Amino acid sequence: MKRVKIADVLKSTQYDIDVLVKGWVRTRRGNKMVSFIALNDGSVIHNLQIVVDNDKFEDDLLKKITTGSAIGVVGKLVQSQGKGQNVEIQAFSIEVYGTADVDTYPLQKKGHSLEFLREIAHLRPRTNTFGAVFRIRHNMAIAIHDFFHKKGFFYFHTPIITASDCEGAGQMFQVTTKNLYDLKKDANGSIIYDDDFFGKQASLTVSGQLEGELAATALGAIYTFGPTFRAENSNTPRHLAEFWMIEPEVAFNDIEDNMNLAEEFIKYCVQWALDNCRDDIQFLNDMFDKELVARLESVLKDAFVRLPYTEGIKILEEAVAKGHKFEFPVFWGADLASEHERYLVEEHFKKPVILTDYPKEIKAFYMKQNDDGKTVRAMDVLFPKIGEIIGGSEREADYDKLLARINELNIPMKDMWWYLDTRRFGTCPHSGFGLGFERLLLFVTGMANIRDVIPFPRTPKNAEF
Ligand code: ATP
Ligand code: MN
Repeated sequence: MKRVKIADVLKSTQYDIDVLVKGWVRTRRGNKMVSFIALNDGSVIHNLQIVVDNDKFEDDLLKKITTGSAIGVVGKLVQSQGKGQNVEIQAFSIEVYGTADVDTYPLQKKGHSLEFLREIAHLRPRTNTFGAVFRIRHNMAIAIHDFFHKKGFFYFHTPIITASDCEGAGQMFQVTTKNLYDLKKDANGSIIYDDDFFGKQASLTVSGQLEGELAATALGAIYTFGPTFRAENSNTPRHLAEFWMIEPEVAFNDIEDNMNLAEEFIKYCVQWALDNCRDDIQFLNDMFDKELVARLESVLKDAFVRLPYTEGIKILEEAVAKGHKFEFPVFWGADLASEHERYLVEEHFKKPVILTDYPKEIKAFYMKQNDDGKTVRAMDVLFPKIGEIIGGSEREADYDKLLARINELNIPMKDMWWYLDTRRFGTCPHSGFGLGFERLLLFVTGMANIRDVIPFPRTPKNAEF
């Protein structure tokens, strides 16, 4: 007999048919005569009720059916008399694949804290909460590919190991096969990498953008979607050392086009979540965040506010003058902290904000320089509850201006000749941005901590599992 997934069983409009289902027992309750098993197989948030006539089964078998055990059930699918489900299964035969000891299986009781569940990240996907989060995570990945594919963008794979140390987005993790107990050094005490695997210092990528620009100026419009690594020691609810990033890059797009793309893209993803993950989102809404569905819907409704950084600073300074307390100072030239971003979004405008034209000092070297000599054509998309969800820019397409900026910042360009070549041969206006996949998931799931939207989070002092 072919196994049917519970998601399909629950949708069935046929009754009194025999089915085979397999999954993990969430609970078993009942009396001497009859047992009710709540079975979940991960395909959907809902459990399937299995009704067991105890007389028809050996006691020894029934005893093994405890919370966490894996079983297969053949039975008749019938319309349910009980409350809370439309269908249930009357069991004919049950096979126990694996038992779960009542005293040691950690997910006995409901209502574990998210902190505790992080310590058992190997088992937490079996909870309703993480089942929902990871199904949504999958669906968002599909939404992203769907959006770009339909628009004619090409999915381009940029390298994970890189030898360019000037991507400028954050601290990098080194990749080496050298014996760390016996490092060869030159007279100045600097490590010699000649005999290392790549013959030079190599790291894990902090962004695929630079290679993405090469592709965009050939294929026209591309996106990357891959793992990204930052060794920044920031223990916040919004930073991971290993996260996934989506980076579209488009030839001939200016910053205006870039903003339009970002807004359309995020709205597409949020709409997709509402259309395809309704049950999971409703569960998270009811359990954790009563505003979740309303917040998702509201983002779809309004046009995002578009505002120069300088105007944003004015608004924040006015807030300070009126007595609003921020932890970090506000002044023109300051890098905005999440509290500032959230003030603009949540208190002032009450909708997402795209902040543009940041001071060049706080942005990367490759951003297009404005005529004022002070700002660059950067754009950050700021979201409720999150702060920055996207960072992007129009890129500096002018070879001389780009080189001048590189020299000004003393960026070592010896491994970057290939990047400058884009500006030497057929340079053109182009723009792109990076969306942190887990930041999008924070928004869509309403979870408060980024460690709870990736299966196995990597953060300072934590690489378990
Ligand atoms: P932040 O200021 O929040 O640290 P950033 O400005 O360093 O972010 P960018 O270099 O602009 O980030 O990266 C693009 C996007 O990648 C960000 O908008 C964010 O969504 C995401 N991102 C950046 N750093 C992290 C991280 N450590 N963990 C998870 N997502 C991140
Ligand atoms: Mn940024």
